[in-house]
Amino acid sequence: MSCQKRISAELLCVIFILAMLLSSVFIIHEAGHDCTGEDCPICQAIVMNSQLLRLIGVAILVLASLLGILRTKHAWAGTLGFSLPASRTLVSWKIRLNN
Ligand SMILES: [Zn+2]
Repeated sequence: MSCQKRISAELLCVIFILAMLLSSVFIIHEAGHDCTGEDCPICQAIVMNSQLLRLIGVAILVLASLLGILRTKHAWAGTLGFSLPASRTLVSWKIRLNN
């Protein structure tokens, strides 16, 4: 991975972590606010932050699932009946090497 990609990935991780942390801190801090009623801007901000946390959670779940599938693609291929790359040998292709 090039240096620029690594820095971009690290920056993206820091942004995700800061968004999760600041959203959680805001929700915790404003949980007991003096609510003004239906159009309370703090309640709307709490709802938006909780939706952001749910979205980040779903994104992490999807990425973890994709990484798990990519990591175990040989196992998935074996269970689904696909040919494994390890089975692609000269013997399996019935290629005879004569000298
Ligand atoms: Zn409120």
